Amino acid sequence: MFRQMFEEKYMRFPGGRAKAATFSYDDGVKADKRLAEIFAKYGIKGTFNLNSLLFDCERWHGRMDEEQTFLTFYNRPHEIAMHGARHIFLNKVPLPEAMNEILQNRVYLENRFGRIVRGLAYAYNGYNAEVLAALPALGVAYGRTTEDTRTFALPEDFLRWNPTCHHTDPALFEIAEEFVKRDPAGEFKHREPLLFFVWGHSYEFDDADNWQVCEKLCARLAESEGIWYATCIEICDYVKAYRSLIFSADGERVYNPSAIPVWLELRGRIYELPPATTVQFAKEL
Ligand SMILES: [Zn+2]
Repeated sequence: MFRQMFEEKYMRFPGGRAKAATFSYDDGVKADKRLAEIFAKYGIKGTFNLNSLLFDCERWHGRMDEEQTFLTFYNRPHEIAMHGARHIFLNKVPLPEAMNEILQNRVYLENRFGRIVRGLAYAYNGYNAEVLAALPALGVAYGRTTEDTRTFALPEDFLRWNPTCHHTDPALFEIAEEFVKRDPAGEFKHREPLLFFVWGHSYEFDDADNWQVCEKLCARLAESEGIWYATCIEICDYVKAYRSLIFSADGERVYNPSAIPVWLELRGRIYELPPATTVQFAKEL
């Protein structure tokens, strides 16, 4: 590890890891079952974005019926998230209708699966300033866009969470390779944590008959060290906990007001900050 002598503080993921990977897949289609199984095989967690008034719509890429959806995701480690009740453009209807589209979707998913559901992927990437301003009141913690960045940056605003790339991106494996090879802890200037965030639709693997792309990507990540595999909401909650840390004026003490442990790197040393605790940083190694 490069000896970072200065005062910059960097978020680290659970266990002190500098990298995380997550996958977000839309529409609740039959191919989700196969995808969820592949993720599980490689120890990867996915987020599946589901509508709640379009079940069993076979002509729309083979959507699952209610029972299949329930059996695919109930009691699994994957996240289920909102994708709107009817898969409409939130920015092309009056605001109350857009809000109803989300709220109905959330209430259905929470009651059907017996969980709290706070993630959202915008159907058709449809949102606007008015929608963004209203979502927190509905308990939406993040909104995933389809605006690929081809970077590993974490979002400033989780309601506009831009992924790294779609799995059909021609540069997918180039990007994945860069992610696997990068080592923020070994850098001088670019020590920020990295997130590799892939999105898509599982039926695209059926349509293109290329499930091997999915297997190859998951296998490449799984064989590499130091990656935290988490759902979108786990990453969102973790980063928000990190951002809620309270530092002393001189930056030498920190209080973690959240309910989860948070990891931080300072001067080449990794600190685990327990919940509801103040930690004093070591002056010298
Ligand atoms: Zn969709």
